[in-house]
Amino acid sequence: MELRLEGVGKRFGDVRAVDRLDLTVEEGDFFTLLGPSGCGKTTILRIVAGFEVPDTGRVIFDGVDITERSPQRRGFGMVFQNYALFPHLSVFENVAFGLRTRRMRGEEVHERVARALTLVHLDRFGDRRVQQLSGGQQQRIALARALAIEPPLLLLDEPLSNLDATLRERTRTELRLLLKEIGITALFVTHDQEEAFDLSDRVAVLQEGRLRQVGTPRELYERPADRFVAGFVGKATLLTGTLDRHEDEVVVRLDSGAAWRVRAGSGQATGQRVEVVVRPEELELHRVRDRKTELTGKVIDVRYLGSFTSYRVELAGGTLIEVAAPAGRADEKEEVGLRPMPGVRLHALPVEEA
Ligand code: ATP
Repeated sequence: MELRLEGVGKRFGDVRAVDRLDLTVEEGDFFTLLGPSGCGKTTILRIVAGFEVPDTGRVIFDGVDITERSPQRRGFGMVFQNYALFPHLSVFENVAFGLRTRRMRGEEVHERVARALTLVHLDRFGDRRVQQLSGGQQQRIALARALAIEPPLLLLDEPLSNLDATLRERTRTELRLLLKEIGITALFVTHDQEEAFDLSDRVAVLQEGRLRQVGTPRELYERPADRFVAGFVGKATLLTGTLDRHEDEVVVRLDSGAAWRVRAGSGQATGQRVEVVVRPEELELHRVRDRKTELTGKVIDVRYLGSFTSYRVELAGGTLIEVAAPAGRADEKEEVGLRPMPGVRLHALPVEEA
């Protein structure tokens, strides 16, 4: 069942929390709303859940306009950041809660609760009180409660943010496997790019209530639509230059002089001003070899991070660029040359007017 938002807008006083948003979540997708604090993610989720009515636009689910429908009648499953479990009830009763409010009784409740607890690997915990569980277990109970009603759509608002780093990553993996297994359609909210990439089939990047780009994690990372997405999704340095098209090859002549290949389709005509998006792992770093084809700069910081070493390099004009390379490539204060790794085609954006 597909979820569609059409021209959805919501204001709070002077704040445009959501601005004419069009979005489609396809059946079976794990779809994530990603953006910085205050960009409107929670408001969108609340509109989909039915806790807010939008000022403009429509919410369509399975082909039906549900914009005005109450949360109960929508019947979506919800998991929140603070779990919202009942501390005085047992695990069983917490998971059964949504079923009882739907007037389900007896054997059916038992079956559904057992199934939901098995899904989250807590089937032996039914009699426990919620306070006797760890944070990660409580989060799984909240998920079991949402899944017990067998909702056609699952809404998740930063459900992992109260967990510590290790548990967060483990719960994330479990969540991904579990949701894939049951094939539920899910709409997930987070400000954490890594989490969004790890879990999602598709991600919508939002800024100040507006949609900047929708795509698979790979599309967003490799072909960001604008500067905001390039910077929010991973690390990026933007280098300005001028596009030069030769038959099948597209080259950008950087303002510093070097000419680097970029992906076809990243920009149109020869002479167009562009910004090249450079990711830390796309460059090679070594002693200066050829000033015509390389960018040169001075290493100002070296951080050993295990699987790679991060070098911060200050280019001639003062631009700082981060490069991920093997350890021992250069020392602080050393002059180095940078060029794209063999075979890498960088992504170029048209220069945005200020
Ligand atoms: P966070 O990640 O911090 O939760 P968010 O992206 O979920 O942020 P929202 O909570 O949707 O953002 O808020 C979007 C904007 O709308 C913010 O500027 C917020 O202050 C404002 N806002 C949200 N709810 C209300 C409300 N009930 N009354 C007034 N302003 C609100």
